[in-house]
Amino acid sequence: MSDRKQRIDAMFRATTCDTAEAVGPAVDAREPAAAPAATDPRWQAVLARDRAFDGRFVYAVRTTGIYCRPSCPSRHAKPANVVFHPTCEAAAKAGFRPCLRCKPDGAGLAELHAAVIADICRFIEAAEEAPQLDELARKAGMSPFHFHRLFKSITGVTPRAYASAWRAERVRSELIRPGASVTSAIYGAGFNSNGRFYETSNEVLGMKPTDYRAGGTNTEIHFAIGECSLGAILVARSERGVCAILLGDNPDALARDLQDRFPQARLIGGDAAFESLVAKVVGFVEAPALGLDLPLDVRGTAFQQRVWQALRDIPAGETASYSDIARRIGAPKSVRAVAQACAANTIAVAIPCHRVVRNDGALSGYRWGVERKRALIDKESAA
Ligand SMILES: [Zn+2]
Repeated sequence: MSDRKQRIDAMFRATTCDTAEAVGPAVDAREPAAAPAATDPRWQAVLARDRAFDGRFVYAVRTTGIYCRPSCPSRHAKPANVVFHPTCEAAAKAGFRPCLRCKPDGAGLAELHAAVIADICRFIEAAEEAPQLDELARKAGMSPFHFHRLFKSITGVTPRAYASAWRAERVRSELIRPGASVTSAIYGAGFNSNGRFYETSNEVLGMKPTDYRAGGTNTEIHFAIGECSLGAILVARSERGVCAILLGDNPDALARDLQDRFPQARLIGGDAAFESLVAKVVGFVEAPALGLDLPLDVRGTAFQQRVWQALRDIPAGETASYSDIARRIGAPKSVRAVAQACAANTIAVAIPCHRVVRNDGALSGYRWGVERKRALIDKESAA
């Protein structure tokens, strides 16, 4: 069974590209009477009722005068009576009427595919273990090859990447739940052994699970709030380095924001020694081009860390678009995820998410207010 499907896929790969145009004309140009449907790879797709071919061609039956999608659930005609057309228009032009059952001319093929893929995403999310490609393709009613391609074209990632991203998300949400143990989080997220999770944890979380949790018990975070030309500024430091620079109008709101970001940490108001650190950071915010000569404690997923590193590589006085950053980290399709990573940044200015603008150069949102973003960019470009 899967052998046969692989053979069909191989034939399609070998003889066509992805478009209906490329699949069709060679056979349609012939007289219908001579059409050897039985030996046409498209007939195998029809026999398999492979939904991935919907929209790429239709087949018409001369005895009934009807044309159908490849996936039509109706009984199959004799191949001798079948003729292929690249599009509904071509079939209609040749005198065929659309099938009332599969509605090949109905709008919404894209919606249909999207609905199928959405179902599969829900299935992956509910599965105990990441399902195999064959199983997913069978559920979608497609060959593995076309399912994989369709899934990627709709979601931007492969089914395997989707499954592991989903599990990572579950681990993260389990880990930050008060009272959850690392082990229960790992099993709760569907990893079947501790060992396997630890093997991949760097990729999944960007750090060891215990470190991630230490967002964190036993962590002490010292902080102080000061004033700079952009308004109130909160500077926080863990034992590893500066872990937050927050900007805003309201000092109390900044302190609450810090507590939200590090819910399990013990927050300690800064003493006199800490004031010099704040002064240093304020000086840096006033003149970012000077650089901040302090270690940062950067906490985030592997993906976020890649984005943030790319932001730090943008020189002061220059800007980049979200697409530029996505390309620079080797994930050109992840523009939205890049924007989300920028929004999740807790270290203003030192991780310069203010240097990211829309593709057309317009300023987009800034978690510390678009006016502050403008002020920072203006200051840097004037320097
Ligand atoms: Zn039909």
